[in-house]
Amino acid sequence: MIRIRFDHSYQRDLPDACIAVAPETPPAPALLYWNAPLAEELGITLGDTDDAMVARLFSGAELPEGAEPVAQAYAGHQFGGFSPTLGDGRALLLGEVLDPQGRRYDLAFKGSGRTPFSRRGDGKAAVGPMLRELVIGEAMHALGIPTTRALAVVATGERILRERALPGAVLTRVAASHIRVGTFQFFAAHGDHETLQALADYTIARHYPELAGSKTPYLALLEAACERQAALIARWMHAGFIHGVMNTDNMTLSGETIDYGPCAFMDAYDSATVFSSIDREGRYAYGNQPLIAPWNLARLAEALLVLMAPDDPASAVPAATEVIQGFAACYRRHWLVQATRKLGLTAEREGDAGLADDWVALLAAAHADHTLAWRHLADAAEGDAAPLTALFADAAQLNAWLPRWRARLAEEPGSVQDSAARMRAANPLYIPRNHLVEEALLAASAHDDLAPLLRLLEVVRAPYTFRPGLDRYALPPVPELAEGYRTFC
Ligand code: AMP
Ligand code: MG
Ligand code: MG
Repeated sequence: MIRIRFDHSYQRDLPDACIAVAPETPPAPALLYWNAPLAEELGITLGDTDDAMVARLFSGAELPEGAEPVAQAYAGHQFGGFSPTLGDGRALLLGEVLDPQGRRYDLAFKGSGRTPFSRRGDGKAAVGPMLRELVIGEAMHALGIPTTRALAVVATGERILRERALPGAVLTRVAASHIRVGTFQFFAAHGDHETLQALADYTIARHYPELAGSKTPYLALLEAACERQAALIARWMHAGFIHGVMNTDNMTLSGETIDYGPCAFMDAYDSATVFSSIDREGRYAYGNQPLIAPWNLARLAEALLVLMAPDDPASAVPAATEVIQGFAACYRRHWLVQATRKLGLTAEREGDAGLADDWVALLAAAHADHTLAWRHLADAAEGDAAPLTALFADAAQLNAWLPRWRARLAEEPGSVQDSAARMRAANPLYIPRNHLVEEALLAASAHDDLAPLLRLLEVVRAPYTFRPGLDRYALPPVPELAEGYRTFC
């Protein structure tokens, strides 16, 4: 029998922050994917549990022993407009598990039916988007980007209504927690300052225990959350990842990426890239992400003011503002650490920032393939600039930049082969490109063929390692496929 030792600290410490809700019973659950490597990391063993039983346990037909499903309350700014009550409209927290190192993770369903927060939604999710969340989450994890991950995806056997009828699914999500900027906004907006404070204290204990003794814990929490988001967004930018719906309810306090809806990876570099069909004004375009993050964190700051200075919240504004204004420099620091590493440099020296900025300006001007351009720098380090040059219609600017970079690389210890090896470990070859993801999802949801998805998963789980015969996974799409690519929630 499957053994999961659940704990329920969120419910216990924050009873007013969630509501007990049972999942709906799916008509014909069938296991699509069980994430065995993740299960092992969590110390979850299936024992002799067969696929049919796993499907029942991770779809709501039955529940793993000890699970106590609750819907969590949160608010959020969606595309800039505030909704005081959003909450888990199609998700349920089953409880928390401790991994063998004692780290605490949420286990939660997504797509398990209606809750008191569902408003007009059906509480359901479709197979395609849940498999997308699985693939992107695993890819992000392999790229070293903090992320929630999927433990299981189960088809429910139900047709759900979207633009057309689609097969339904339940995904089991593993997250450091589901505490969002919007969770703080919920209690601030509803004037429940007691729960707001309990939430802040809980968040500190769970994610930032080093702040527990601070004289200004809530300001310190804001600062620490800013730091983690700056680190996260810097990694997104280097991976060419576009979240697509950076609403405040989709920004975690843990610093993990959450909610893979209309997300996508950029092929040709263009800071205006937007894939989401609902982001008509490009609010969440690739290049805007480092600006939207502090906007969201300012909303967190506003929610925390009353805890920072209960008698006179306005008096906390200057200190909180300073933290938010510090985001840009913090982001820049994180971005540069990664950029220098990706350029093959072991420590940043004077002039490296300019070198990195000029390189990115080259990619932008040429609309070069983002992933391959960085990757082929390693070949250029070893003397073969042809694969890199081929990405540029006009290589004049590139040819002016390359000698500057080579001269800087020559100051590094070790051989050029050493530098190239470091760069290949920092610049992925395989990302879940949109056309590959679409192809895999189409095969899975329209033809019940999971083979393309399993192959893609295998490739993106080892993104830095060149393997012969996988060219099609490394290449950008043909232009007809790249044109007008759109994602939907
Ligand atoms: P998202 O855009 O995924 O971040 O979701 C925003 C809000 O809409 C959250 O409160 C979700 O729970 C809710 N939501 C999204 N899809 C559904 C659905 N199919 N049924 C009910 N609520 C939903
Ligand atoms: Mg969301
Ligand atoms: Mg979503």
